[in-house]
Amino acid sequence: MHRSRKVTLLAGGVGAARLARGLARLVKPENLTIVVNTGDDERFHGLHVSPDLDTIMYSLAGLAPWSPGWGIKDDTFTAKHALERLGAESWFALGDRDLATHIRRTQRLSEGAPLSRVTAELCAALGVRQRILPMSDDAVRTVMRTSVGALPFQDYLVKRRARPRVQGVSIRGASKAGPAPGVLRAIRGADTVIIAPSNPLVSIGPMLSVKHLRVAMQKARAKTVAVSPIINGRAVKGPLVSMLRGIGKKADNASIASLYARVASTLVVALHEAPVEKSLRGWPVFAETDTLMSDELGAERLARTLLELGEPPACG
Ligand code: GDP
Repeated sequence: MHRSRKVTLLAGGVGAARLARGLARLVKPENLTIVVNTGDDERFHGLHVSPDLDTIMYSLAGLAPWSPGWGIKDDTFTAKHALERLGAESWFALGDRDLATHIRRTQRLSEGAPLSRVTAELCAALGVRQRILPMSDDAVRTVMRTSVGALPFQDYLVKRRARPRVQGVSIRGASKAGPAPGVLRAIRGADTVIIAPSNPLVSIGPMLSVKHLRVAMQKARAKTVAVSPIINGRAVKGPLVSMLRGIGKKADNASIASLYARVASTLVVALHEAPVEKSLRGWPVFAETDTLMSDELGAERLARTLLELGEPPACG
């Protein structure tokens, strides 16, 4: 029933990759497009690493482990150890097979291929049939404003384990960036747009900071369903709660609703968690379901609910 629906997913990292796997069980590959955050791309060992693109790509290729959800299952770390021995910094752990992706990506980028084309090539090589698009071919970088100064995103998250107190988020390069080819068409042409359970400030936020992408999403509001990353006042993983507090917001579904008010008409929250202010004007409508994706079946169940919510009302 859902297989022929055209679905576009806005995605960050692991939570989004799990949902993408759930959606891939229900929607024809050619009908599923995933638009992915590149704000946390970074250079390591001179290589261009796109953590969210790779998490989505490896997940749909069947290479990523369900938990922790990133990297390649059973990857080895020979190169990492050798690099350490040579004096390289290695706080961002890259496995051997994973490194091959970054080497190939960097080579193709240095030959002048845009990130969207390189991503399509990598996906084809790994047998991914869904369309994965970077949000932009231009460099957009998330910078955390913290108690110890401005930090590139991976420096804040991985090197410093999200310990510095967050005071704000800056998205550098966004004002000059355009959406990657195919992104606007994917949003406009979708029957349903889904905002994954990703961090709204550092995964979805960078995408919405790209002007034409944001405008397309605002126009697509009526057909857009977002999933709250908050369950029981906590993030399933990651530093979302401290980030929200850092920018003066509470860690609850009402805050997520306020962040997505202009781009989503429905916000899916965990069972019994729709806030009492649910009728606030201009906010998305709340829908409740089990939003924790503990395994592939849980992801499929959530994906099915999202597709049902995004279905046009039956006539007559
Ligand atoms: P990011 O998107 O790269 O920032 O990283 P993740 O996808 O790992 O996590 C981002 C947000 O997604 C976190 O705030 C998590 O709470 C949320 N998240 C991860 N898995 C799930 C899940 O199964 N259900 C829900 N509702 N949220 C999740």
